Amino acid sequence: MNELEGIKARLQEATPGPWEWDGPEHIRQSLRGAEAQEILQCGALLYPEYRNAELIANAPRDLARLVAAVEAVEKVHEPVAIYETDDAGQVQDDKHVRDICGTCSDSSVTESLDDGNYDLAGEYGEVGWPCPTLKAATAALEEER
Ligand SMILES: [Zn+2]
Repeated sequence: MNELEGIKARLQEATPGPWEWDGPEHIRQSLRGAEAQEILQCGALLYPEYRNAELIANAPRDLARLVAAVEAVEKVHEPVAIYETDDAGQVQDDKHVRDICGTCSDSSVTESLDDGNYDLAGEYGEVGWPCPTLKAATAALEEER
């Protein structure tokens, strides 16, 4: 399971959002889920600061938006596999050469692939896999923090 899948799994297992704090009370505050389920209860001396309370309450929505943003980038930037072909132009499934990004590579590259005229040594405008855009969107997920 990659980090994004882990985040999604934890988000799906958590009480559905939006989360909201109960109105101000002098004895306790409760954080509640979309259907008023109690998630967290704080006594008067243990109220989170407003800035932290906002972060906690917005976590489900903010995480869902960030996951959706990364998934949108992943969906647009998909790999295109390049294989050797035989003399008749048939793809040799066991002779994978490399993957390129079908979105970031120049359209002339994908046209050459579609036409079966691709130079296996590489063509101008080819962007390798994973492309810089996908790396930028996912690199932080792989870092230890
Ligand atoms: Zn790309």
